[in-house]
Amino acid sequence: AAKGAGRNRVRVFSPDLRSAVEQKVLVAAELQEAIDDGQLVLHYQPVLHLPTGDVTGVEALVRWQHPQRGLLAPCDFIPLAEQNGMVVPLTRWVLGEAARQTAEWERAGMPLVTGVNISAAHFGTGSLVADVHDALEAADLAPERLVLELTETSVAEDPLRAAAQFAQLRIAGVEVAIDDFGSGFSSLSQLVSIPAGVLKLDRSLIAGTETRRSESAAAIAAVVGLAKACGMRSLVEGVETADQLALVRELGCTLAQGYFIARPMPAAQLPQWLAEHGGVRHSVGSARLRSA
Ligand code: C2E
Ligand code: MG
Ligand code: MG
Ligand code: MG
Repeated sequence: AAKGAGRNRVRVFSPDLRSAVEQKVLVAAELQEAIDDGQLVLHYQPVLHLPTGDVTGVEALVRWQHPQRGLLAPCDFIPLAEQNGMVVPLTRWVLGEAARQTAEWERAGMPLVTGVNISAAHFGTGSLVADVHDALEAADLAPERLVLELTETSVAEDPLRAAAQFAQLRIAGVEVAIDDFGSGFSSLSQLVSIPAGVLKLDRSLIAGTETRRSESAAAIAAVVGLAKACGMRSLVEGVETADQLALVRELGCTLAQGYFIARPMPAAQLPQWLAEHGGVRHSVGSARLRSA
């Protein structure tokens, strides 16, 4: 099964371990090539603002159009990129492309706020603030148009350093969202100390309503209430049915995202999707976009 296992080599590692190491090196080199050759693409998933029914934003989700392996999902290469350091150059590309696309949509009368996922590994490097600044400047995009999606892990590793970076991002005018909240270890004490604008509830929370409806609804209501008390908007991820959408609306959630609303799509498809779904009816400006 190991790649190159048939070749004549000194067995330093067990075959499985060696193949894992080789694969990591291979993916690092390949990823650099992917960035340089334009093999990475962003798909965008609409975010629905529940009080108005407007699509006010999108989340940028990276895919790798691999020359041999086809279209790869983030789970196929992001974890490796996080281990071998490639996630930083990859994210620079994502930030640049997302900012460019968001500015293009805005010029075309579609003012959207775009979420970009940031790995804990990148948050820890200290170059994030500069990378965000560079992307905004190159695209001539206002900082309010970007939201950086961070998981709690980013904060847990080095809370002091994280606080300093949050402060810098706030000064730069870029909003932060806490991603996947409610999965794994969600520290409430940490949450109240993070100056985030949006709390994204992990999709396991809404998925739970299918089997344990009242308990899961209570959990969502509690987190939505907590977000509100902390001055954050709440966003439920993974809304897959009309019933779930109705429920999150009822529970007072501000924003929703999920396959029932729309699947992630290539940038070229978004304008038509918005036109068909009555999104961005509000060419009135950004005030409404940012109102909770
Ligand atoms: P995430 O940031 O939590 O993104 C949401 C994921 O849930 C996306 O998967 C999206 O396609 C999927 N999703 C959305 N709605 C539904 C739904 O209704 N049902 C289900 N089952 N899934 C739904 P995707 O695109 O495969 O991305 C997976 C993860 O990979 C992301 O989770 C994020 O952590 C990471 N990722 C994606 N793009 C990037 C990137 O540019 N940089 C970094 N560092 N990570 C990224
Ligand atoms: Mg995300
Ligand atoms: Mg998420
Ligand atoms: Mg997730």
